[in-house]
Amino acid sequence: MPVLVMKFGGTSVANLDRIRRAAKRVGVEVAKGYDVIVIVSAMSGKTNELVGWVGETSPMYDAREYDAVVSSGENVTAGLMALTLQEMDIPARSWQGWQVPLKTNSAHGAARIEEIPPENIMAKFGEGMKVAVVAGFQGISPEGRITTLGRGGSDTTAVAFAAAFDAERCDIYTDVDGVYTTDPRICQKARKLDRIAFEEMLELASLGAKVLQTRSVELAMRYNVKLRVLSSFEEQSDTAGTLICAEEDIMESNVVNGIAASREEAKMTLVTIADEPGIAASIFGPLSDAGVNVDMIIQNISEEGVTDMTFSCPIDQVKRAEKALGEARDAGKLTFEELAIDTEVCKVSAVGIGMRSQSGVAAKMFKVLSDEGINIKVIATSEIKISVLIERKYMELAVQALHDAFELEKA
Ligand code: ADP
Ligand code: ASP
Ligand code: MG
Repeated sequence: MPVLVMKFGGTSVANLDRIRRAAKRVGVEVAKGYDVIVIVSAMSGKTNELVGWVGETSPMYDAREYDAVVSSGENVTAGLMALTLQEMDIPARSWQGWQVPLKTNSAHGAARIEEIPPENIMAKFGEGMKVAVVAGFQGISPEGRITTLGRGGSDTTAVAFAAAFDAERCDIYTDVDGVYTTDPRICQKARKLDRIAFEEMLELASLGAKVLQTRSVELAMRYNVKLRVLSSFEEQSDTAGTLICAEEDIMESNVVNGIAASREEAKMTLVTIADEPGIAASIFGPLSDAGVNVDMIIQNISEEGVTDMTFSCPIDQVKRAEKALGEARDAGKLTFEELAIDTEVCKVSAVGIGMRSQSGVAAKMFKVLSDEGINIKVIATSEIKISVLIERKYMELAVQALHDAFELEKA
C-alpha cells in the first residue's frame, strides 16, 4: 500500500471535536487505499503551559527534564487520536517517539533526528493496521532519554517519517489554508501561494514564518519529500493548499515572494572594545559555547584602537548571552566598558529567489521604511533575503508597507 503522512498541528487537535474532525480527514485517505502515518502535536497552548511550568520550577533547568515534561502534550493527543479512529472502525495504534524508535542525538531541547527504523510500524501495517498515530516533536537519545526537536518540531517529525517510509506525500494540516506571502494574521492583504520553492520556504521559516519548522523544510529538500501545507478546517481536494517544491517547478516568480517577521529579537552592543585581531573570536566563542544563536553582527568604525560590536539574538537567550560575556570578562578574556541591551526590537525580512539576478531590492526596502518613519538599526543580507532590525512597535506597519511596495497581493 502507498503510505501517506498527515500531520495535525495544535489548533487542529485542540479539543475532542477537532480530533474527531481530523480523524474524519484521515478516514478519507484510508478509504482511498493509503496506509496512513498521522503525526500529532499537543493540543494548542499545552506546550507553552508545560514550558512555563518548567521555568517556574527551575529557572536554570536540566534540559533532560525539560524534555521529559514538554514532550508529554503529544502523548495525550496521540492516544486520543488512535482511540477516535478505533471508534470509527479504523484499525489504529499510537506510538510515542521512543517506541518507534525515533532516534536523535543528545541535544536536548533541539535534538536532531538520526534514524527512524520503519520495521515496527511496517510490520503492523502488514498485519492490517491502517493508521499509525505518532506523537510528534519527540525522540530518544543514544543514552535512552526522551528528547524534543525544538518548538514547532512536529513538522520535522512528519517530514522525517515521510522520508523514512518513502511516503507519497507529507500533508501538514494547520490553521491557515497554505503558505501566504506573509503572515495572514499580520497583513490582511496576504495572498495564498499555490507553490513556493524550497529555498524561499527555508528562508521564510528561518526568518520567523512559523507555519513550518525550518528543519522540516531542510529535510524535505534533501530527501525530495512532496510537502504540502493545508487547512484542517475545510474540505480538501488533492491539490488544495500550498506545495513546497523545487524552483524549476514554479512557472513564474516575483523578485520578492514573501515577507517574514520575527517579533522576539534582542540587540546587544558591547561598548568600547579593543579593535585588535582575535576580538570577534573572544566575543562570539563564549556566546557559541553558551548556546546563543547569534544572528546579525555589526562592528562599528574604529577610533583610536577601540570600537563597538553589536549583535542580535532571540530575546529568550539574552540572559544566557549576558552571563557568558560577563564570565569572559571576569576571566580576563575580554574587556568592554558596557553591555547595552535593547529588547524592544523585531526583525523584518524580504525573501525572493529573484533577488539573485535583480538589484535594487535593498534600496527599495530602505526607502519604504524611511517613508514610514521607521529607523533601521541593523541590516543583514544574503543571496535571496534582506533583513532589518527595527523597533518592535513598527513590526506590523513595516510588514504591511513592504507587502504593498513589492505588490505581493497581486498574483
Ligand atoms: P500548527 O499548530 O498547526 O503547527 P503554527 O501556529 O505553528 O500551526 O503555524 C501556523 C501559523 O503560522 C499561522 O496561524 C500563521 O499565523 C503563521 N504564519 C506565519 N507566516 C506565515 C505565512 N507566510 N503563511 C502562512 N502562515 C504563516
Ligand atoms: N507541541 C510542540 C510545540 O508547540 C511541537 C509542535 O507543535 O510542532 O512547539
Ligand atoms: Mg507549528
